[in-house]
Amino acid sequence: MASELEHECPNCGEEKTFYRAAATELHLGQKTKWSCPDCDYAFVRINGDIDSSVSA
Ligand SMILES: [Zn+2]
Repeated sequence: MASELEHECPNCGEEKTFYRAAATELHLGQKTKWSCPDCDYAFVRINGDIDSSVSA
């Protein structure tokens, strides 16, 4: 799985290359947390679907 992800950051207002801050194996799939390199914004995905926004 890639450790970087192009995604729009609502804080920065532009596309950023998010990095994978954490990954957890759940029974329903893999949960990954992605963080913006330029601010504290982060979000969580489960099997590629964005689950919720979290603050770092
Ligand atoms: Zn940002």
